[in-house]
Amino acid sequence: MRILVMNCGSSSLKFQLIETSFQQIVANKDRMLAQGVFERIGSTDARSRLLVAGQEPQETVREVLRHQEAIQATFAWLAGESGLLGSLDEIDGVGHRIVHGGERFHSSTLMTDDTVRQIEALSDLAPLHNPHNLKAFYAAKKILPRVPQVAVFDTAFHQTMPPHAYIYGVPYIYYTRDKLRRYGFHGTSHRFVSYRFAQIHGDTREKYRLITCHLGNGCSVCAIDHGKVVDTSMGFTPLEGLIMGSRPGDLDAGAVLYLLERAEMGHAEVDVTLNTQSGLVGISGVSRDMRDVLAAAAKGNERAELAVNAFCYRVSKYIGSYYVAMGGADAVLFAGGIGENSAEVRARICRPLSVLGLQLDEAANVATVGREGSIARPSSRLKGWVVPTNEELLIARDTLRCMAAH
Ligand code: ADP
Repeated sequence: MRILVMNCGSSSLKFQLIETSFQQIVANKDRMLAQGVFERIGSTDARSRLLVAGQEPQETVREVLRHQEAIQATFAWLAGESGLLGSLDEIDGVGHRIVHGGERFHSSTLMTDDTVRQIEALSDLAPLHNPHNLKAFYAAKKILPRVPQVAVFDTAFHQTMPPHAYIYGVPYIYYTRDKLRRYGFHGTSHRFVSYRFAQIHGDTREKYRLITCHLGNGCSVCAIDHGKVVDTSMGFTPLEGLIMGSRPGDLDAGAVLYLLERAEMGHAEVDVTLNTQSGLVGISGVSRDMRDVLAAAAKGNERAELAVNAFCYRVSKYIGSYYVAMGGADAVLFAGGIGENSAEVRARICRPLSVLGLQLDEAANVATVGREGSIARPSSRLKGWVVPTNEELLIARDTLRCMAAH
């Protein structure tokens, strides 16, 4: 089956064309055939980068005012210049990343009129995401009206969290009336990584207690107890939890009140500060990119060193608390741009975990960059692994499964 995976943001569109089947899933042999990204949609200098697997990318800068145009260009390229498809009829299904599934969606779902209405109704929980995610659905429906489309939610995997982990200590009416609770995000990544770790070991996820760390631009940790999420660090929004590239993670709500009242910042200013000027870039003043912050720290920049230390300390602290939440753990898994590529950050996170039985193999850690592999000593009671994530692949696989189930 050829599945088109789409991730439509406020000014961007990312896609991958993936060939998958049940046999390929079992053998981990599904193939990415092509991928592309459009950025700055809505401007006269939108950028696109389209790539057939194994070939040089084609890059353009031109006017793309609406998502619909980017999606039309994607389809035209797939069935034309790319040389991949004879016609669009060769696309068997379309899978979409949808950020918020609320309490309604516990798993991926075929996008019928009814489910799309429900996803739309959840837009008040994710006004910056769900409406954009759905643009790709509507555009694809116009072009491929008979092809099944599937929604894969960032929140769904976390829906097994027990009430004591998702409830906030605020008046209960905010939960019942306003749906204010912890939902968690990056669910597709945590699910993929935990599945893949078990697959590598010839087992199922249900055999393990896992702590998965997705450390990318956004960062979150997840406690997966025998296949079920029992806690995760992001909350009602992706602002909660770990220190990220430009978000603060856990922050005293009183500090927000202070900024609003004493520092006389408006709501919009606080929003921008918390989403784009905090975290690594906020503390270091250098960059939101961990590579730049590490490089500055290595040159003796004290604030950069502080930012890296605060980042790693927070991750270690969460891992410790999830170890307790699950009454122990079998492995800590690292994924995302930082988790997969930075041995330095992993080492700083793992060293304090020796108290939980994780003995870091420093040489294996340094040698494991951008690929699967163990970073703990063979005798280590708590295992440590790098497991690169692949959210698009899981979306393609879920699309296939949902199509087969109907
Ligand atoms: P997203 O969360 O948007 O999917 P990624 O998982 O691709 O993002 O992570 C991107 C981030 O990974 C970059 O901003 C950068 O901070 C970090 N990163 C990538 N490579 C390295 C590296 N070698 N060392 C440290 N950080 C890295």
